[in-house]
Amino acid sequence: MKRILITGGGGFLGSHLADRLITEGNEVLCMDNFFTGSRMNIHHLLDNKNFELIRHDVTFPTYVEVDEIYNLACPASPVHYQFDPVQTTKTSVIGAINMLGLAKRLKIKILQASTSEVYGDPEIHPQPESYRGNVNPIGPRACYDEGKRCAETLFFDYHRQHNVKIKVMRIFNTYGPRMNQNDGRVVSNFIVQALKGQDITIYGDGKQTRSFCYVDDLIDGMYRLMNSHDGFTGPVNIGNPGEFTMLELAEKIIDLTGSKSKLVFRPLPQDDPLQRKPIIDIAQKELGWEPKVPLTEGLKKTIAYFEKVI
Ligand code: NAD
Ligand code: UDP
Ligand code: UDP
Repeated sequence: MKRILITGGGGFLGSHLADRLITEGNEVLCMDNFFTGSRMNIHHLLDNKNFELIRHDVTFPTYVEVDEIYNLACPASPVHYQFDPVQTTKTSVIGAINMLGLAKRLKIKILQASTSEVYGDPEIHPQPESYRGNVNPIGPRACYDEGKRCAETLFFDYHRQHNVKIKVMRIFNTYGPRMNQNDGRVVSNFIVQALKGQDITIYGDGKQTRSFCYVDDLIDGMYRLMNSHDGFTGPVNIGNPGEFTMLELAEKIIDLTGSKSKLVFRPLPQDDPLQRKPIIDIAQKELGWEPKVPLTEGLKKTIAYFEKVI
């Protein structure tokens, strides 16, 4: 049995990861400041003897004794990470330094939840890990994109300079139960709007694309990466290569919910990437991983969740 720290463990992905790690027979120490996460996400774990919660901000030092760290703390939706952009950069950069310092002191493995946003608005399509990206360093998304890029730099420097064992994962858009219904991401927005019979808000012309990965697939990739052989650091893309326009996504959700909602068009936010799709050859080869849940099936499960909570 390992004792495993998850920063951001009260969030969407962190809470699913906590479930998985406890199911695998581990103890989980969940650290969260609840900026975007919620106690509801981990409510079912609060009485579990293998689960412990600490309310703490990752930008402050943390002295705990654990065997592994998954560093997920960071708001992930544009609306939330742009709410307090300075804090977003601090969370990624100072948070990474603190968690890497902890991993260095304890001589343990640490996994970083990086993002496809390190590719910015990509000029190469689909995106391999070797692509260095096209990020606007002074735009409204930069606090997130550059914070995550700097965190990757810190991970590789702690690895080279201090022999810290690192795993870096570039996560592509992920959806599923426990997404925060108010966080402004497209899947939760469209489902909530469809279920409430409100207008579905398409930003821009809706022809921009994203590749959506169901949460269970994503968590399986994360778990496999942490447990991959020592020589493998990543970065590795984890995402579903199925690529959809926002119009296609809206139509699918209207279809699956039987909603009468209408599509309305709103301005495209600045620097919004036009296309995004992972190449997952490295994940397939190094982790034996590929996504299994098709979009329609994953959306049905997500819709069933939102029907219960809204
Ligand atoms: P989320 O917002 O649901 O979870 C993030 C969690 O981190 C929340 O519980 C939040 O309260 C916590 N947090 C934020 N700042 C903190 C701080 N300073 N100290 C402690 N806790 C803090 O988002 P998520 O979708 O679960 O994302 C988890 C991680 O995965 C993030 O690092 C995100 O950047 C990354 N990621 C997610 C996606 C996705 O599609 N969901 C895509 C790429 C990367
Ligand atoms: N740190 C922490 N817990 C630990 C060890 C370190 O939070 O158990 C933080 C601490 O804030 C430190 C940072 O990690 O400043 C980086 O640690 P490192 O050892 O790299 O640098 P230093 O201690 O020299 O600043
Ligand atoms: N989007 C949209 N309507 C919404 C929310 C988002 O059309 O109500 C678009 C957004 O402009 C982007 C895509 O959906 O092109 C994905 O947005 P999200 O915020 O989910 O993720 P990210 O932009 O970080 O990939």
